[in-house]
Amino acid sequence: MNRIIFAVCKLGWIAAGWLVVTGAYASSPVTTVVTSAPVRFILTFDDGPDGRDQENPTASILNMLAENPTQKNIKAIFFLQTRSKEGGATTRGRALLEREQADGHVLALHDGSTLGHPNHCKLSEEVLEQSLNDGVADIRSLSHQPITLLRPPYWDYNERTLGAYARHNLAVLLTDISVNDGKVWGYHGSPRRHIHMVSEMTHVRERIWRGEIPKVEGVTPIVVTLHDTNDFTAEHMQEYLQMLVDEARKAGLTLAAKPFYEDGAALERAALVRAHDTTHRADMVPRTWSWLNRLFG
Ligand SMILES: [Zn+2]
Repeated sequence: MNRIIFAVCKLGWIAAGWLVVTGAYASSPVTTVVTSAPVRFILTFDDGPDGRDQENPTASILNMLAENPTQKNIKAIFFLQTRSKEGGATTRGRALLEREQADGHVLALHDGSTLGHPNHCKLSEEVLEQSLNDGVADIRSLSHQPITLLRPPYWDYNERTLGAYARHNLAVLLTDISVNDGKVWGYHGSPRRHIHMVSEMTHVRERIWRGEIPKVEGVTPIVVTLHDTNDFTAEHMQEYLQMLVDEARKAGLTLAAKPFYEDGAALERAALVRAHDTTHRADMVPRTWSWLNRLFG
């Protein structure tokens, strides 16, 4: 009996091998992709915290990350504007920064000035230096740990700004998937969010195939960017979490048992590996912004 079972299994493997070798599986509507390490998403949020007392999107997103049907206790990286008059500088914003720290998320820097959302490439050496000094000090007063990660506003950087970040030991983390959750276009909405996610996930799959995304601690970490100051994002957070999982599977990507990080230290380690991979940094600028920065930079 065992011999019969063995023979059947062997025939199965031979048939599977033939399918792979001949490419016969390609006719399947859902492509099967074999990756050596399953995908886990590095969730990141830019521009926060929000400073509103009522219906605060940052607070709503923190609640959703802790408790939702897709995966509980998700940890994220928050790229902060620590002195924004509408957020980080407000009493409510400061309390949310403390909550992000207490909840085990990773606090990172977007900008530490009072200038709103400045393009660092257009700031003088002195103003940029002050922004970095203040931002690092603001976050460090909460976390009591070195700040390791920065994301430049508008995804824009040059040799001068990279030099300034390096002097502060700040590694630049860009993104693989920009969700386009409405913030950057000045209106609160994203009617093409599903089509856009399919496109972004297909692009990620191709980069994994080409071996451009390093594996870290047994998984392939994929960076995803949203905005926690955006009402639309807060209202659709559960939809976005499930959309990431569903579209990754439809694209043929194998997901880790936990598709999102639930340990802040592991999340930061993975993010640092991605940030230090300077060979592929230019590929981690959202394609629209890459084009705009080349045109107007
Ligand atoms: Zn921003």
